[in-house]
Amino acid sequence: MTSHPSPTTAPSDEPRSAPVASRVLVLNSGSSSVKYQLLDMRDGSRLAVGLVERIGEETSRLKHTPPAGGHPREQFGPVADHEAALKAVATELAADGLGLDSPELAAIGHRVVHGGMYFTEPTVIDDAVLAEIERLIPVAPLHNPANLTGIRTAMALRPDLPQVAVFDTAFHTTMPESAARYAIDVKTADEHRIRRYGFHGTSHAYVSRATARLLGRAPEDVNVIVLHLGNGASASAVRNGRCVDTSMGLTPLEGLVMGTRSGDMDPAVIFHLMRVGGMSTDEIDTLLNKQSGLIGLCGDNDMREIRRRIDEGDEQARLAFDIYIHRLKKYIGAYYAVLGRVDAIAFTAGVGENAAPVREAAIAGLEEMGLAVDGDLNAVRSDEPRLISPPDARVAVAVVPTDEELEIATQTYALVGKNHA
Ligand code: AMP
Repeated sequence: MTSHPSPTTAPSDEPRSAPVASRVLVLNSGSSSVKYQLLDMRDGSRLAVGLVERIGEETSRLKHTPPAGGHPREQFGPVADHEAALKAVATELAADGLGLDSPELAAIGHRVVHGGMYFTEPTVIDDAVLAEIERLIPVAPLHNPANLTGIRTAMALRPDLPQVAVFDTAFHTTMPESAARYAIDVKTADEHRIRRYGFHGTSHAYVSRATARLLGRAPEDVNVIVLHLGNGASASAVRNGRCVDTSMGLTPLEGLVMGTRSGDMDPAVIFHLMRVGGMSTDEIDTLLNKQSGLIGLCGDNDMREIRRRIDEGDEQARLAFDIYIHRLKKYIGAYYAVLGRVDAIAFTAGVGENAAPVREAAIAGLEEMGLAVDGDLNAVRSDEPRLISPPDARVAVAVVPTDEELEIATQTYALVGKNHA
């Protein structure tokens, strides 16, 4: 391994009491993709952003966007596995002078979807941590194996570097048992670790804090309902900075209507589909996770397309939108009741940040709850956190862009710094 001296690196004879390196690489490894961002933690800026997709296929693609002003570079052709993908990423980063062997790289932060009840905080990865993430595979069969592959590959490339796991579930581990437990036989639930874990936690944590900042208050003083509305969607109730309820459950299938997932449903629908519909477990899994939600209701899961069809008078798209909004309203009401006092409702992720009609419809008619949206403010397009409620509203309604990569990098860097102190 080569290392290059750089202006921000401490001279080698100086004791290293804090990480002088300022960069964190964030890796989000899916089953056939790796997304990455390299951040400079002095100001949170992006030094590089990219992804490798369709790993294991003939038609893999790497897209790498270099530091500000640089033109994105794309490569097409087979990338056999995650190891090949990460090596290709390392080569791209090195071409911009940002190689994985740089002494300015402080750590690698990995998104890990399922941390169960065990991981309540970001954690430096060692063999015991790897074993625990592996033990959680039965409750996250799609995500944790891919996350593990990414971690193991990155550890092989930089065995000397701190690697940190940041869990999607961690923010939700503060939920009380009354919210986290399903009302099923306790012994059966415990034996199979069945409970509400919740997901998108990194986003809910980031957005709830950013909302408090927008209000000029400390997160510990604020109660927020966060509506993370992307292709996957979840709501959370956050009291004084801690999650007290969230809509996703054992898996990300529960809760809101999503792009391709049904969200809440009578569980007996599944027995009915098996007994009367003759469907297999895998077929029902696919139906509810990939062919339901907006796409199941109207054939489209992109809110832009659904809005366009509604504008053209398409009744099926209208009904899909109405079902989506009805569910959203039910969660706003439920979490209002759970929290008792609500200071703000924050919309985030692809739909929440961009779809003004969704925000307007979700809040419409809730004036008695102190909720309202100002049409002009709601129409503003911006990447900045902003209020869309009228100035005299009792409850703030906000649009707060999420930044999961920054949150992962921040948590990773803070942990590495703490361990150095
Ligand atoms: P995410 O999972 O957070 O990346 O969100 C992706 C989803 O956001 C897409 O499937 C769209 O439904 C939605 N979306 C993105 N941009 C817009 C937009 N300009 N207007 C409405 N919806 C949008």
